[in-house]
Amino acid sequence: MIRVGVNGYGTIGKRVADAVEAQPDMELIGVAKTQPNFEAHTAVERGYPMYAAIPERSPLFAEAGIDIAGEVDELVAEADVIVDCTPSGIGAQNRELYETHHTPAIFQGGEDSDVADVSFNARSNFDAARDADYVRVVSCNTTGLSRIIAPLEEEYGVDKVRATLVRRGGDPGQNSRGPINDILPNPIKVPSHHGPDVKTIFPDLEIDTLGLKVPATLMHVHALNVTLEDDVTGAHVRQLLEGEDRVYVIPEGLGIDGAGKLKDFALDAGRPRGDMWENCVWGESIGVNGRDLYLFQAIHQESDVIPENIDAIRAMFDTEDKRDSMELTDRTLGVGI
Ligand code: NAD
Repeated sequence: MIRVGVNGYGTIGKRVADAVEAQPDMELIGVAKTQPNFEAHTAVERGYPMYAAIPERSPLFAEAGIDIAGEVDELVAEADVIVDCTPSGIGAQNRELYETHHTPAIFQGGEDSDVADVSFNARSNFDAARDADYVRVVSCNTTGLSRIIAPLEEEYGVDKVRATLVRRGGDPGQNSRGPINDILPNPIKVPSHHGPDVKTIFPDLEIDTLGLKVPATLMHVHALNVTLEDDVTGAHVRQLLEGEDRVYVIPEGLGIDGAGKLKDFALDAGRPRGDMWENCVWGESIGVNGRDLYLFQAIHQESDVIPENIDAIRAMFDTEDKRDSMELTDRTLGVGI
């Protein structure tokens, strides 16, 4: 059993904790939180031992009726691995704590790539994380792009990727983010930083990205143009993507014409929190002109990186190979439509 602690229990952390709990080869030994908010109460109801992330705030938990198991450094000392799910920039500050206790750690995509020895996407570079002590699971957007690029690269070879990322303004609970009523080129400088992030997974790839932010919380949508090394047919690309477990090619005729209906679809299917762990590619959008492939995909920013964190743990501990780990993760979480 790999003993896992989760430091930072927000959007990503609570999902990682549930995913760890669902694995037969992992034990969730605790979660660390900064404050006893509603998520802390839910964690306690789920039976997750609670640790105070900021020692001076420990008394707040007792006042809120939550018994804590200890403070974060005790969780770090006890764990075989910590999954750090704190806000961007805090993870890098926490690295020293993990090093002090000789506890390996996984960081999230909001951190710079130099926070860890390797940037990780299970489909694309599982083996790069073998035996690594510090791994960064790349961002939701980079995960979504990598899952498409890896099979295209293997099957046809990729000359160049151009991607426009229409990004949600904030997650549903982030009521201070926006825009509320605008369409922002964001970042305004092109090409955007997203392309270089994808190159942490595919160092030799030619990729340019542009970003926008829109008044939505549900998902990101990518408009993708990939120039392949050979002429292809849309039908062949579609068959290739349909063979990918973490890509859902939305069939024509379902009436799923946007991110809103995709989220309804996930909720109707009884998925936890309405999560869509898979890239959602509109089948009808897969279009080909010679070597140029075009498609639209939606990425559920809150959940696509969750299976990747689980696979990163197995890669670091060298307990399963790529295929077995991804299959086990998908089966236990319910990934794959
Ligand atoms: P979040 O704000 O929802 O959750 C972060 C949690 O960490 C909060 O509960 C916060 O109180 C807590 N925290 C703050 N300081 C802490 C500290 N010093 N110690 C322990 N906990 C602390 O953030 P999130 O959206 O879950 O993002 C976490 C990481 O995941 C970031 O690197 C982010 O870029 C990345 N990420 C986020 C998304 C997304 O869409 N939400 C997608 C992919 C990756």
